[in-house]
Amino acid sequence: MQKNVKKYDVLIIGAGPAGANAAISYKNLNPDLVVGLVDKSIFPRDKSCGDAIGPGVISALKRFNNEHILDGEPQVVSTTLYGPDNIGIQNYIPQVKNKDDSIVYVIPRIDLDNRILNLAKDEGVDVYEGYSFVDFTSNEDKSLNVKVKNDNEDLEFLTKILVGADGANSRIRKKLNYEPNSDWHKAIAIRAYIDSPNYLEIFKERTLMFEINVSADKGYAWAFPSKGNLLNIGIGVPVSIFKKDKLDINKLLDNFVTELEGRGVIVENIRKQKSYLLPFASSRPKRNRDFNVALIGDASSMINPMSGEGIFYGMEAGYLLAKNTHHVIDTDGLSLGIDIYEKEFTKRFRKHYLSCALARLILQSPFMTKRLLRVASKDQDTIDFVVELLFDEAYLTITEVIKIAYKFLLPSKLLAFRSKN
Ligand SMILES: Cc1cc2nc3c(=O)[nH]c(=O)nc-3n(C[C@H](O)[C@H](O)[C@H](O)COP(=O)(O)OP(=O)(O)OC[C@H]3O[C@@H](n4cnc5c(N)ncnc54)[C@H](O)[C@@H]3O)c2cc1C
Repeated sequence: MQKNVKKYDVLIIGAGPAGANAAISYKNLNPDLVVGLVDKSIFPRDKSCGDAIGPGVISALKRFNNEHILDGEPQVVSTTLYGPDNIGIQNYIPQVKNKDDSIVYVIPRIDLDNRILNLAKDEGVDVYEGYSFVDFTSNEDKSLNVKVKNDNEDLEFLTKILVGADGANSRIRKKLNYEPNSDWHKAIAIRAYIDSPNYLEIFKERTLMFEINVSADKGYAWAFPSKGNLLNIGIGVPVSIFKKDKLDINKLLDNFVTELEGRGVIVENIRKQKSYLLPFASSRPKRNRDFNVALIGDASSMINPMSGEGIFYGMEAGYLLAKNTHHVIDTDGLSLGIDIYEKEFTKRFRKHYLSCALARLILQSPFMTKRLLRVASKDQDTIDFVVELLFDEAYLTITEVIKIAYKFLLPSKLLAFRSKN
């Protein structure tokens, strides 16, 4: 019997921030497009994450007037960085150059992703929750047949473009035969939620706490305050180190809890521990032009190798893909549109990703971490730059490298004197 094959202009697999924002962008740029969005989970669904979103996500939401989904969320006002030997600095989030708002929120992904998905539903996107991607085949005219299934039924779709937004273990990426990131270019991290009645008191304000090279050698831990007493905590290390040192991710989390308690933070009701991979943008897949298939977000290794931030890059990729293809969906120019998306994304973020990869290398050395924090504690420009690498699209220029290298070499007293004048 002939199956009923539903036709789409755009079919997206994965309804996380990258996939949902791609769907929102296509519908806003071209409301006539028929867009489908498939996810193996039923929303609201949890996702292992630090839950921090910064100026990039806010501007991505503002693009189509959707920032109201953040209404009522408490704003984070500062960052606190700790290194070995208890060297620490607390700094207000500086005015970032490329975005309107220098604001950070910590919103559990179970809520945030559901809010973004609801925006896609409001735009008239067909959403299939609880269906897993199975396979695709390409036809002579380059359209694609895509199979998905749940426990009860198999569905088949025909689409002009297939978008893989199915996360760090992307099945679509595997089907395209793209190599996964090597262990050096990905991290493993664990997240947990705790209640802490005194975190804000201890740090005097709503601050994002990062800890580098302390609870895990060559790794970083975080404590991010959300609403009320809710705190998202976690720790991550590069997979290469994790395997070499035969580490236990739960043990690393225990170490960090002990560190937090050592700082006087009350840790109650540790729950929802969940680990996952972070494919870094220091190694990204090259496109196979045989198929009109595009990857976005973690499926395409877009995570900042320094901060582990990935929501913004995935959402921006979704928009850039829609911007460069929404008007050529029905033409032979579609494949070129996908190429232009890839080029635009790479051109915009290449130097930023490279600078963050370099910063990650530096921060893997306890000596360099201490030196950087010492310099940053005396020199506002350096700490602002570090925070911009974390929250904006900053990159190192030759002048910047020379300036920072010079400050690294200056004795601390001279640096303090120089900063005062
Ligand atoms: C521990 C940890 C902490 C992090 N902290 C932060 C942070 O604080 N801030 C930040 O910006 N980033 C953070 N990240 C990175 C961030 O979580 C990801 O970059 C982000 O989720 C990428 O979004 P995405 O839409 O590409 O993928 P995802 O959010 O992973 O969404 C992919 C979707 O695809 C679906 N899917 C997967 N396979 C299939 C299939 N076969 N068929 C159908 N659907 C499928 C999944 O159910 C999922 O909903 C962190 C990551 C980790 C692991």
